[in-house]
Amino acid sequence: MEELGTPVLDNHLHLDPEHGRGLDAVRDFARLGGTHLLVVNKPSWLLGVEPESGADFRPVFETTREVVREANEILPGRAWPVLGVHPGLVSRLVDDRGYSPAEARELMCAGLDCAAEYVRAGDALALKSGRPHYDVTEAVWDASNDVMRHAFELGADLDCAVQLHTEAAEDLTEVAEWAEERGLPAHRVVKHYAGGTLAGPTPSVMSEKDRLRTAADADEPFLMETDFVDDPDRPGAVLGPKTVPRRVRWLLDQGCDEAVERAHVETPARVYDIDTRETLSR
Ligand SMILES: [Zn+2]
Repeated sequence: MEELGTPVLDNHLHLDPEHGRGLDAVRDFARLGGTHLLVVNKPSWLLGVEPESGADFRPVFETTREVVREANEILPGRAWPVLGVHPGLVSRLVDDRGYSPAEARELMCAGLDCAAEYVRAGDALALKSGRPHYDVTEAVWDASNDVMRHAFELGADLDCAVQLHTEAAEDLTEVAEWAEERGLPAHRVVKHYAGGTLAGPTPSVMSEKDRLRTAADADEPFLMETDFVDDPDRPGAVLGPKTVPRRVRWLLDQGCDEAVERAHVETPARVYDIDTRETLSR
């Protein structure tokens, strides 16, 4: 076990014990000094689930809950589930399964309602929503924005953060305003796969050196992630599970102690109301 002397949180990764590396990825993360994980459920279709109702998402969410339970046995800190509906589902419903955009919107909102039950019961930390990062028709775009706004309503109601998958952007102030209008503070909206700076939501920065350097210099709240997909068919599609602890070491070597504190203690407390120091057992 490497000691970094600080909590180390990967804010967005996936674990698939059945098809991927699962808990071995958690062991790698912990061995390099990683302590805390936010585990996001995989897109439903990658687990072979073709939902027709909100309750049909349950097996997807249960898979994540179970792997988080097991990860908690390995980590010196903690893991938490982040549950929701991947925005790419809208295209699978409309293009492949004959749904109208309005019907797709209803099903995806119902899936989010199901995820919200887990948050309400204390079995998940936050919700996941967003909109497609690729070109879609105006009707699909509008339906996707409606789904995302529904997630903000749920987040406000539950007092929990909402992680977003969106197009690449450095300014999402309009989206943050939609959240604020519904009673969810902008800083509790987290854009995953972010660059080093972002106007509006809190950026969850992909842990590449140039993005992290920008985030460290910006003096603003940020999180770090890998978006490890744990998919044997897509090796190297994203960063591996060792990346966040490695980049934390790199930041510390560069004298960016304050940025490390911001990304792994202050911002997690501000966004999720979690205490990464208090939950560190070693
Ligand atoms: Zn992801």
